[in-house]
Amino acid sequence: MSYRLHIPTTLDQALEIRRRTDGTYLAAGTVILVNHRHSGDLISLEKIEGLTSIEEDSESIRIGALATFDDIENSGLIKRNLPALWQAAFNTAGPQIRNRATIGGNIGCFSPASDAVTALVALDAEVQVFDGSYHNIKIENLRSLEKEAIITSVIVPKRFGFSAFEKVGKRNAMSVSVINMAIAENNGEVRLAVGCASPYVLYCKATSESLSTGATDLGKAKEILLSEIRPIDDRWGTLEYRRAVAVNLLEKLVKEAGL
Ligand SMILES: Cc1cc2nc3c(=O)[nH]c(=O)nc-3n(C[C@H](O)[C@H](O)[C@H](O)COP(=O)(O)OP(=O)(O)OC[C@H]3O[C@@H](n4cnc5c(N)ncnc54)[C@H](O)[C@@H]3O)c2cc1C
Repeated sequence: MSYRLHIPTTLDQALEIRRRTDGTYLAAGTVILVNHRHSGDLISLEKIEGLTSIEEDSESIRIGALATFDDIENSGLIKRNLPALWQAAFNTAGPQIRNRATIGGNIGCFSPASDAVTALVALDAEVQVFDGSYHNIKIENLRSLEKEAIITSVIVPKRFGFSAFEKVGKRNAMSVSVINMAIAENNGEVRLAVGCASPYVLYCKATSESLSTGATDLGKAKEILLSEIRPIDDRWGTLEYRRAVAVNLLEKLVKEAGL
């Protein structure tokens, strides 16, 4: 493998290099470089200013795409306002990876097992991308990136008074999720998201609606969940195991949320 590394300092430069070389954006490289599948042009985003900050306004928290899981874990703002995301960050990989891996890379690899994405879907987040101008896209609808778009930040509403994340993997640390799940609740509005249960992290609309009625029927919610998810069957877990884990996690989160 041979790489040609480009280090732009602005978003416009990064776009120009991408258009010219058809290269791949590089954040921390914990997916790209570990997979060793890449050769050609890599466009590092590391030196572009303004992509690491975590800031709030009255309604939301904006997390720069290059914020690491360590930054998220150490953010009191996120721990207080977005506990599901904090828990997802804390449960991602081990300390060395969390010290480097970025939230933008977690979104940009479009894996159904991306832990932070599950929390972000439950929390109704939007992803801001730059392709010459800025656009916001609901994360639950984001399946790929158009053209040469760069993820610049993720904007997470603060309206959910309760949120929580759960993950089951082969072991506690350094382990990909077999199933992960997050729930967020605000004044009767419930949002449930599940990872590893379809080709992408899934917002479980029908299950969320059944939990938003104010009179939760857990048995019914489990049935609806099983009709919504399409777990994969692989060496990390069979389909039956993933379905069983999913309903157990649902029960746990529903009880934690006091629904
Ligand atoms: C040992 C190990 C354990 C892991 N455990 C977990 C785990 O428990 N949970 C989990 O969710 N993940 C886990 N991962 C996967 C990985 O660490 C995360 O997904 C991480 O967030 C990826 O971020 P990165 O900055 O390294 O991305 P990179 O590898 O740099 O990029 C990943 C992809 O996103 C694209 N990309 C990156 N940033 C942007 C951007 N700003 N705009 C557009 N595209 C972009 C890249 O082009 C690439 O396609 C693990 C990885 C390893 C090696």
